[in-house]
Amino acid sequence: MLPARRQQYLDAIGIELFVRRTPAQAVQAPTFAAVEPASVPAAAASVPEAAVEEGQVAAQWQRLLDEVRGCRLCPLHATRTQGVLGVGPKRSDWLVIGEAPGAEEDRRGEPFVGAAGQLLDAMLRAIGLDRRTNVYIANVLKSRPPNNRDPRPEEVEACLPYLVRQIRLLQPKIMLAVGRIAAQNLLGTDAPLSRLRGRVHHFGEQQTPLVVTYHPAYLLRTPADKRKAWEDLKFARSVYQQLTQGATDGNRS
Ligand code: SF4
Repeated sequence: MLPARRQQYLDAIGIELFVRRTPAQAVQAPTFAAVEPASVPAAAASVPEAAVEEGQVAAQWQRLLDEVRGCRLCPLHATRTQGVLGVGPKRSDWLVIGEAPGAEEDRRGEPFVGAAGQLLDAMLRAIGLDRRTNVYIANVLKSRPPNNRDPRPEEVEACLPYLVRQIRLLQPKIMLAVGRIAAQNLLGTDAPLSRLRGRVHHFGEQQTPLVVTYHPAYLLRTPADKRKAWEDLKFARSVYQQLTQGATDGNRS
Protein backbone atom coordinates (compact mmCIF):
# COMPACT_ATOMS: atom_id res chain seq x y z
CA MET A 1 0.00 0.00 0.00
CA LEU A 2 1.25 3.47 -0.84
CA PRO A 3 2.46 5.37 2.27
CA ALA A 4 0.18 8.32 1.51
CA ARG A 5 -2.84 6.00 1.23
CA ARG A 6 -2.00 4.20 4.49
CA GLN A 7 -1.54 7.52 6.29
CA GLN A 8 -4.94 8.57 4.97
CA TYR A 9 -6.53 5.51 6.62
CA LEU A 10 -4.61 6.09 9.84
CA ASP A 11 -5.77 9.72 9.83
CA ALA A 12 -9.34 8.46 9.47
CA ILE A 13 -9.06 6.32 12.59
CA GLY A 14 -7.30 9.07 14.50
CA ILE A 15 -3.77 7.68 14.56
CA GLU A 16 -1.39 10.58 14.08
CA LEU A 17 1.96 8.85 14.04
CA PHE A 18 2.91 6.16 11.61
CA VAL A 19 6.20 4.34 11.98
CA ARG A 20 7.23 2.39 8.91
CA ARG A 21 7.56 -1.29 9.70
CA THR A 22 10.35 -3.51 8.63
CA PRO A 23 9.63 -5.87 5.73
CA ALA A 24 9.25 -8.74 8.22
CA GLN A 25 6.38 -6.85 9.90
CA ALA A 26 4.68 -5.81 6.71
CA VAL A 27 1.20 -7.03 6.00
CA GLN A 28 1.26 -10.44 4.47
CA ALA A 29 -1.10 -11.01 1.63
CA PRO A 30 -3.87 -13.27 2.91
CA THR A 31 -3.81 -16.79 1.68
CA PHE A 32 -6.90 -18.82 1.07
CA ALA A 33 -7.73 -22.16 2.57
CA ALA A 34 -7.07 -25.19 0.46
CA VAL A 35 -10.16 -26.75 -1.05
CA GLU A 36 -10.87 -30.30 0.00
CA PRO A 37 -11.33 -32.63 -2.95
CA ALA A 38 -14.98 -33.46 -3.57
CA SER A 39 -16.22 -36.90 -4.46
CA VAL A 40 -17.33 -36.83 -8.09
CA PRO A 41 -19.91 -39.23 -9.54
CA ALA A 42 -18.52 -41.39 -12.31
CA ALA A 43 -20.84 -39.77 -14.85
CA ALA A 44 -19.42 -36.39 -13.99
CA ALA A 45 -15.81 -37.51 -13.83
CA SER A 46 -14.89 -35.17 -16.64
CA VAL A 47 -15.95 -32.15 -14.55
CA PRO A 48 -12.95 -30.71 -12.70
CA GLU A 49 -13.18 -31.46 -8.98
CA ALA A 50 -12.50 -27.84 -8.10
CA ALA A 51 -15.50 -26.77 -10.18
CA VAL A 52 -17.73 -29.32 -8.44
CA GLU A 53 -16.54 -28.09 -5.04
CA GLU A 54 -17.09 -24.48 -6.07
CA GLY A 55 -20.64 -25.26 -7.17
CA GLN A 56 -21.41 -27.06 -3.92
CA VAL A 57 -20.09 -24.19 -1.82
CA ALA A 58 -22.02 -21.64 -3.88
CA ALA A 59 -25.20 -23.67 -3.39
CA GLN A 60 -24.64 -23.79 0.38
CA TRP A 61 -24.14 -20.03 0.50
CA GLN A 62 -27.33 -19.46 -1.46
CA ARG A 63 -29.25 -21.80 0.85
CA LEU A 64 -27.91 -19.94 3.88
CA LEU A 65 -28.87 -16.57 2.39
CA ASP A 66 -32.37 -17.80 1.56
CA GLU A 67 -32.84 -19.22 5.07
CA VAL A 68 -31.74 -15.99 6.77
CA ARG A 69 -33.98 -13.90 4.53
CA GLY A 70 -36.94 -16.09 5.38
CA CYS A 71 -36.03 -16.82 8.99
CA ARG A 72 -38.73 -16.56 11.67
CA LEU A 73 -36.87 -18.40 14.43
CA CYS A 74 -36.97 -15.45 16.82
CA PRO A 75 -39.28 -12.46 17.27
CA LEU A 76 -36.87 -10.09 15.50
CA HIS A 77 -38.26 -11.22 12.16
CA ALA A 78 -41.39 -9.22 12.88
CA THR A 79 -39.65 -5.85 13.14
CA ARG A 80 -36.74 -6.14 10.71
CA THR A 81 -36.76 -4.96 7.12
CA GLN A 82 -34.54 -7.84 6.00
CA GLY A 83 -32.08 -10.38 7.31
CA VAL A 84 -28.46 -9.30 6.85
CA LEU A 85 -26.16 -12.26 6.24
CA GLY A 86 -22.82 -10.55 5.62
CA VAL A 87 -20.52 -9.08 3.00
CA GLY A 88 -17.19 -10.05 1.53
CA PRO A 89 -15.48 -12.84 -0.40
CA LYS A 90 -16.99 -16.27 0.22
CA ARG A 91 -13.65 -17.76 1.25
CA SER A 92 -11.70 -15.42 3.47
CA ASP A 93 -8.86 -15.67 5.97
CA TRP A 94 -10.34 -12.82 8.02
CA LEU A 95 -13.80 -12.70 9.56
CA VAL A 96 -15.00 -9.56 11.37
CA ILE A 97 -18.00 -10.05 13.65
CA GLY A 98 -20.17 -7.29 15.06
CA GLU A 99 -23.27 -7.31 17.20
CA ALA A 100 -26.32 -6.87 14.96
CA PRO A 101 -27.56 -4.75 12.05
CA GLY A 102 -28.45 -1.16 12.86
CA ALA A 103 -31.06 0.95 11.13
CA GLU A 104 -28.97 1.67 8.03
CA GLU A 105 -27.77 -1.94 7.77
CA ASP A 106 -31.35 -3.17 8.12
CA ARG A 107 -32.40 -0.84 5.29
CA ARG A 108 -29.51 -1.59 2.94
CA GLY A 109 -29.00 -5.29 3.72
CA GLU A 110 -25.27 -4.97 4.40
CA PRO A 111 -23.42 -4.96 7.73
CA PHE A 112 -21.40 -1.96 8.90
CA VAL A 113 -22.53 0.80 6.59
CA GLY A 114 -22.92 4.45 7.60
CA ALA A 115 -20.42 6.30 9.78
CA ALA A 116 -19.43 3.30 11.90
CA GLY A 117 -18.96 1.23 8.76
CA GLN A 118 -16.74 3.86 7.21
CA LEU A 119 -14.58 3.90 10.32
CA LEU A 120 -14.41 0.10 10.34
CA ASP A 121 -13.36 0.14 6.68
CA ALA A 122 -10.61 2.65 7.49
CA MET A 123 -9.42 0.54 10.43
CA LEU A 124 -9.31 -2.58 8.28
CA ARG A 125 -7.58 -0.88 5.39
CA ALA A 126 -4.89 0.32 7.78
CA ILE A 127 -3.89 -3.36 8.16
CA GLY A 128 -4.35 -4.21 4.50
CA LEU A 129 -7.92 -5.54 4.57
CA ASP A 130 -10.85 -4.64 2.35
CA ARG A 131 -14.39 -6.04 2.45
CA ARG A 132 -14.36 -6.24 -1.35
CA THR A 133 -11.32 -8.49 -1.55
CA ASN A 134 -10.03 -10.18 1.61
CA VAL A 135 -12.23 -9.83 4.69
CA TYR A 136 -15.76 -11.06 5.37
CA ILE A 137 -17.95 -8.98 7.70
CA ALA A 138 -20.98 -10.30 9.55
CA ASN A 139 -22.89 -9.94 12.81
CA VAL A 140 -23.86 -12.30 15.61
CA LEU A 141 -27.53 -11.46 14.94
CA LYS A 142 -28.77 -11.31 11.37
CA SER A 143 -31.84 -9.19 12.14
CA ARG A 144 -31.98 -5.74 13.72
CA PRO A 145 -33.22 -5.51 17.33
CA PRO A 146 -35.78 -2.71 17.70
CA ASN A 147 -34.25 0.63 18.71
CA ASN A 148 -30.80 -1.00 18.55
CA ARG A 149 -31.29 -2.62 21.95
CA ASP A 150 -28.84 -5.32 23.04
CA PRO A 151 -29.52 -8.81 21.68
CA ARG A 152 -31.38 -11.12 24.07
CA PRO A 153 -29.85 -14.50 24.96
CA GLU A 154 -32.64 -16.43 23.27
CA GLU A 155 -32.16 -14.40 20.08
CA VAL A 156 -28.44 -15.15 20.06
CA GLU A 157 -29.13 -18.82 20.70
CA ALA A 158 -31.55 -18.95 17.78
CA CYS A 159 -29.28 -17.07 15.38
CA LEU A 160 -25.79 -18.35 16.21
CA PRO A 161 -26.12 -21.52 14.08
CA TYR A 162 -26.19 -19.29 10.99
CA LEU A 163 -22.82 -17.82 11.96
CA VAL A 164 -21.44 -21.31 12.62
CA ARG A 165 -22.49 -22.32 9.09
CA GLN A 166 -20.89 -19.18 7.69
CA ILE A 167 -17.64 -20.05 9.42
CA ARG A 168 -17.69 -23.59 7.98
CA LEU A 169 -18.01 -22.12 4.51
CA LEU A 170 -15.57 -19.26 4.97
CA GLN A 171 -12.89 -21.27 6.79
CA PRO A 172 -11.33 -18.13 8.27
CA LYS A 173 -7.90 -18.27 9.85
CA ILE A 174 -8.71 -15.49 12.33
CA MET A 175 -11.78 -13.74 13.70
CA LEU A 176 -11.97 -10.15 14.93
CA ALA A 177 -14.86 -9.50 17.33
CA VAL A 178 -15.73 -5.80 17.40
CA GLY A 179 -17.47 -4.57 20.52
CA ARG A 180 -18.35 -5.95 23.92
CA ILE A 181 -21.67 -7.49 22.91
CA ALA A 182 -20.20 -9.48 20.02
CA ALA A 183 -17.21 -10.60 22.06
CA GLN A 184 -19.24 -11.65 25.09
CA ASN A 185 -21.76 -13.60 23.02
CA LEU A 186 -19.13 -15.35 20.94
CA LEU A 187 -17.01 -16.26 23.95
CA GLY A 188 -19.87 -17.03 26.35
CA THR A 189 -18.65 -14.65 29.01
CA ASP A 190 -19.74 -11.49 30.78
CA ALA A 191 -16.15 -10.29 31.23
CA PRO A 192 -15.60 -6.63 30.39
CA LEU A 193 -14.02 -5.73 27.08
CA SER A 194 -10.87 -4.54 28.85
CA ARG A 195 -10.23 -8.12 29.99
CA LEU A 196 -10.96 -9.65 26.61
CA ARG A 197 -8.65 -7.43 24.56
CA GLY A 198 -4.99 -8.26 24.00
CA ARG A 199 -5.41 -12.05 24.08
CA VAL A 200 -6.03 -14.80 21.58
CA HIS A 201 -9.34 -16.57 22.25
CA HIS A 202 -10.75 -19.42 20.20
CA PHE A 203 -14.20 -20.00 18.73
CA GLY A 204 -16.23 -22.95 17.54
CA GLU A 205 -15.54 -26.43 16.30
CA GLN A 206 -12.40 -25.35 14.47
CA GLN A 207 -11.16 -23.38 17.50
CA THR A 208 -10.59 -20.42 15.19
CA PRO A 209 -8.32 -17.81 16.82
CA LEU A 210 -10.34 -14.76 17.86
CA VAL A 211 -9.12 -11.29 18.84
CA VAL A 212 -11.31 -8.61 20.45
CA THR A 213 -11.41 -4.86 19.86
CA TYR A 214 -13.74 -1.91 20.21
CA HIS A 215 -16.87 -1.37 18.12
CA PRO A 216 -16.39 1.49 15.64
CA ALA A 217 -19.63 3.13 16.85
CA TYR A 218 -18.06 3.29 20.33
CA LEU A 219 -14.89 4.76 18.86
CA LEU A 220 -16.92 7.48 17.16
CA ARG A 221 -18.26 8.43 20.60
CA THR A 222 -14.92 7.90 22.37
CA PRO A 223 -12.13 8.87 19.98
CA ALA A 224 -9.58 8.77 22.80
CA ASP A 225 -9.72 4.96 22.59
CA LYS A 226 -8.85 4.85 18.87
CA ARG A 227 -5.21 4.36 19.72
CA LYS A 228 -6.07 1.27 21.81
CA ALA A 229 -8.10 -0.04 18.86
CA TRP A 230 -5.08 0.48 16.63
CA GLU A 231 -3.02 -1.60 19.07
CA ASP A 232 -5.66 -4.34 18.85
CA LEU A 233 -5.53 -4.30 15.05
CA LYS A 234 -1.76 -4.55 15.02
CA PHE A 235 -2.01 -7.41 17.51
CA ALA A 236 -4.55 -9.23 15.32
CA ARG A 237 -2.35 -8.72 12.28
CA SER A 238 0.67 -10.15 14.12
CA VAL A 239 -1.38 -13.17 15.23
CA TYR A 240 -2.45 -13.74 11.65
CA GLN A 241 1.11 -13.45 10.39
CA GLN A 242 2.29 -15.96 12.98
CA LEU A 243 -0.54 -18.34 12.09
CA THR A 244 0.23 -18.22 8.41
CA GLN A 245 3.92 -18.64 9.12
CA GLY A 246 3.15 -21.79 11.13
CA ALA A 247 3.79 -20.50 14.64
CA THR A 248 1.60 -18.86 17.26
CA ASP A 249 2.18 -17.18 20.53
CA GLY A 250 -0.55 -16.62 23.05
CA ASN A 251 -0.83 -13.07 24.26
CA ARG A 252 0.22 -9.57 23.45
CA SER A 253 3.54 -8.72 25.03
S1 SF4 B 1 -32.16 -12.67 14.34
FE1 SF4 B 1 -31.52 -14.61 13.44
S2 SF4 B 1 -32.85 -16.15 14.41
FE2 SF4 B 1 -33.83 -14.13 14.70
S3 SF4 B 1 -35.23 -13.92 12.95
FE3 SF4 B 1 -33.27 -12.94 12.39
S4 SF4 B 1 -32.13 -14.54 11.29
FE4 SF4 B 1 -33.78 -15.56 12.44
